[in-house]
Amino acid sequence: MLTDEELTRYARQIVLPDLGGTGQQRLKASRVVVVGAGGIGCAVIPALAGAGVGRLTIIDPDLCDLSNLHRQPIFRSRDAGEPKAALAGQFVRRLNPFVEVDPVERRIEAHNAAALLSGHDLVIDGTDNFATRLAVSDACVALGLPLLSAAAAQWQGQVGLFRGKPCYRCFVGDAFDADDCDNCAELGVTGALTGLAGNLAALIALRVLAGAGDDPAGQLHLIDGLTGTQRRIRIPADPTCRACGITSS
Ligand SMILES: [Zn+2]
Repeated sequence: MLTDEELTRYARQIVLPDLGGTGQQRLKASRVVVVGAGGIGCAVIPALAGAGVGRLTIIDPDLCDLSNLHRQPIFRSRDAGEPKAALAGQFVRRLNPFVEVDPVERRIEAHNAAALLSGHDLVIDGTDNFATRLAVSDACVALGLPLLSAAAAQWQGQVGLFRGKPCYRCFVGDAFDADDCDNCAELGVTGALTGLAGNLAALIALRVLAGAGDDPAGQLHLIDGLTGTQRRIRIPADPTCRACGITSS
């Protein structure tokens, strides 16, 4: 049940026809893990915490750096040098005391991904390298968890929900397992674009968790920051995918 304070806090979204009290209770009962408190995570975390998602796990092994702040507005200048997961946890507690938050200062990798992700209803990955993304995706396929993947680099953003087939590996293939890919440290990115991609991911997450709107699984949203356009493509399943293809059911 929702308390009077929660009913007041969420009044402007409970009034939404596709959400309502039932949707709000679903959000409260939801357990979401956000992988990466970077530019994407720093948009996702306030949106989900503010909306009343009941439990947030935030996984990030890094320390806040001055060069993060142009795209990670939940941190402040004086936070430089502090662990980002703990800082993000403090941010959530200040924003909404009804959200249980669990900061995890660890790097997620193939060997620990399943243990860190199990027990959640939705995984949101905003990390910036393919080795991590594929480790997270493979664990989601193995655990049967939906994966909401969001990325932004240079002027391009992409957001997609993967549930069963196709999986994220179907989309990017196997070429990126080595941890040697470019990321936004080298490519550059604007905070406005990471915010846009992160908020789109948060919006899709809220729809999925509350049961509002169409099922977005298997579609990829592409954002072009230089033209201001967005398009949506359908991702085909790869029958030879080593995560969700041939050997799995
Ligand atoms: Zn696949």
